[in-house]
Amino acid sequence: MRLEGIHHITAITADGPRNVDFYARVLGLRLAKKTVNQDDPTAYHLFFTDEQGTPGSDLTFFEYPGARRGRPGAGMVQRVVYRVAGEAALDFWAERLGGEGVETAREPGALRFADPEGLGLELRVVETPDEPLVARSLEVPEEHALQGFHAVHAAVADPGPSARVLRDVLGFRELGGHAWEARGDVRGGSIELVGGRGPGLGGAGTVHHVAWATRMEEQAAWRERVAGAGLQPTPVIDRFYFRSVYFREPGGVLFELATMGPGFTADEPLEHLGERLSLPPDYEPLRGQLEKILTPLPDTARWRPAPIKSMI
Ligand code: ZN
Repeated sequence: MRLEGIHHITAITADGPRNVDFYARVLGLRLAKKTVNQDDPTAYHLFFTDEQGTPGSDLTFFEYPGARRGRPGAGMVQRVVYRVAGEAALDFWAERLGGEGVETAREPGALRFADPEGLGLELRVVETPDEPLVARSLEVPEEHALQGFHAVHAAVADPGPSARVLRDVLGFRELGGHAWEARGDVRGGSIELVGGRGPGLGGAGTVHHVAWATRMEEQAAWRERVAGAGLQPTPVIDRFYFRSVYFREPGGVLFELATMGPGFTADEPLEHLGERLSLPPDYEPLRGQLEKILTPLPDTARWRPAPIKSMI
């Protein structure tokens, strides 16, 4: 039983329109699902993915308009690392982000920057057999596109207990330098434990949690294992596009174990993902009201090529 790398990463934005502009237009990701927070349907839940909405590519945001800016600290993910193909891709991104007024820092094999609300991002050239998870975009050539998640950086005050849970409970493999990888049959993803700098403050521009991918039939066993280690997992919660179990690892970082299905085509066809507001069935009667409350978002169709027509 192995976790299949990162499933998704969920963060907070105070400004949905700017968030969509940055992730869908500037970074060239696909807004594959536009839905609401299941616990608060007046708040958007936006999902930016590859073309297929694949686990391993999915950065999601809750929108709380006007939310205060957060600050990452101990017990929080403070950087999201995406894979790119090579140094030419880093050249492309340094120029493109510079043209958008985004400050970047280049290192051999990596480019660091932040989103408009301060969320730490990095593009890294990674040697991997994993399939690149790429979105089609009129703005970003395919050879330079983001290829899915490589890692998260998480700040913890003491890496020892976190490392023990990663290794002994969750089956991560040590890569060295406080980096740990979950690798399954399909894909790998890693977490790099970095020193904590005092407590963080949740809010706009911070990560809420990181989800690791599990096979549907193994989720119950994972939950048992986490419970057996005294980590107090939640019950399995049906998130409609996947099923989730949450717990905090010893350093305070909120982890989720999310199933690799059923996926985003559960309620709309692949070629039209994210075009309209998707509502869980319980909230469908509120559609008219919610569409008035929720912030209007840019139409991402203008940044995307025409859908690939089915040959059938
Ligand atoms: Zn989640």
